[in-house]
Amino acid sequence: MDLRKLRKALQRLWAVLYSATGRLAASYLAVIMVMSLTYSYVLYSTSAHELGRMPPRDLYEQQVESGDTSTGEMAGGVAARPRFDEFLRERAEEGRRVLLQRLIVINLLTLAGGAWLSYYLARRTLQPIEANVEAQVQFVSDASHELRTPLTTLQTTNEVALRNAKLSTAQAREVLRQNIDEVGKLQELTDGLLKLARQDTEALPMEQVSLQRVAGDAMNRIVAPAQAKDIAVEDKVRDIAVKAHAASLTQAVVVLLDNAIKYSRPHSTIVVEGGRRGKHAYIRVVDEGPGIRPSDLPRIFERFYRADQSRSSQHVNGHGIGLSLAKKIAGQHGGTVDVASEVGKGSKFTISLPLG
Ligand code: ADP
Repeated sequence: MDLRKLRKALQRLWAVLYSATGRLAASYLAVIMVMSLTYSYVLYSTSAHELGRMPPRDLYEQQVESGDTSTGEMAGGVAARPRFDEFLRERAEEGRRVLLQRLIVINLLTLAGGAWLSYYLARRTLQPIEANVEAQVQFVSDASHELRTPLTTLQTTNEVALRNAKLSTAQAREVLRQNIDEVGKLQELTDGLLKLARQDTEALPMEQVSLQRVAGDAMNRIVAPAQAKDIAVEDKVRDIAVKAHAASLTQAVVVLLDNAIKYSRPHSTIVVEGGRRGKHAYIRVVDEGPGIRPSDLPRIFERFYRADQSRSSQHVNGHGIGLSLAKKIAGQHGGTVDVASEVGKGSKFTISLPLG
C-alpha cells in the first residue's frame, strides 16, 4: 500500500472514530475492556497467590516420616525438601507465566471482538435517532420553503403598490384583498404545521364516540365551501360506537371532505359512508373528482407532497399537509387511511379504525 492510500485509510478511520457512532462505540468498548481487565486482574492475582502457596512443612514432614511418598518428588525424605521447594517454585512461576499469556490473548480477543460489537451496537442505537433528526431537518426546510411563497407574494404586491404614486382607492382595496388572501394561506399553513407537530408528540385520550356524530360534525364544518361550489354531500354513515379522540377523528374526516370539495368540479356529489366491516369501523369519503394517477398514489400521504401541479392542483390552494395529518391521526387510533382512485372518475378515501 502506498503512503497516500495509507493516509486516506487513516483519515477515514479518524472520521469514523470521531463521529457520534465512533464515540458511542468507544464508550461501549471502554466499559467492556474495564470489565474484562478487572476480571483478568482479579483472576490473575488470586490464581498467582494460590500457585505460590507451599505445602505446610508439618504436613510434608509427617508424610515423609510415615513413609507416604506417593508424590514422586517427595521421595528422598527431609533432605529432598529444598529441591522440592525449588521444583514447586518453578512450577508456580511457569503456571503464572502461562496464565498471564492466556489472559493477554483473551483480552486482545475481547478488544477486537468488543470493538466490532460496540460499533454494531452504537450503529443500531444511533440509526433511528439520526433518521429522526434528518426527518426534522427536512421538515423544517420544507416548511420554510412553503412559508416563503406566500411571504414573497405579499412583499411583491405591497412593494409594487407602494411604488405606484397614483394608486387609486380601488387598486388599494385590491392589494388589501390579495394581502388578506395570502395571510389566510399563511395562517392555514401554520395551523397545519402546528397540528402536525402536536400530533407528533401527543398521546390522544380515547373515549367511546359515535361515528355518525363525528361524520356529522365534520360535514357541518365544510358546509360553506360545499355550497360555494354547489356540491351535494350525502350522509350514509351508520351509527356505531368507536373508541376514538372525537376532535382529532373529526379533523381527519374534515381533511378528506375538504380535499373532495377542493378537487371536485362544481355541482358534483360527495358521499360519506361509514359503519362496521369485520373487526373495523370505517368512514369513507367518495368523490367524483379528477382522480389521482397511480404513480402519485403512494406519495400523496407524504408531508408537502402535491400531485401533478399542472393537472389537479393547479388552481387549488393547499400545502400537501392535509393527508399526512389524516394519516397520523388514523395511526394514533391504531388505524389506517387508504385510497382507491381512478383518473377521470373520482377517489375514495377510507379511514379504518380497529373495534374493541
Ligand atoms: P393539499 O390538498 O393541501 O395539496 P393533501 O395532503 O391534502 O394536500 O393532499 C395531497 C395531494 O393529494 C393533493 O395535492 C392532491 O394532488 C391529491 N388529492 C388529495 N385528495 C384528493 C382528491 N379527493 N381528489 C384528487 N386528488 C386529491
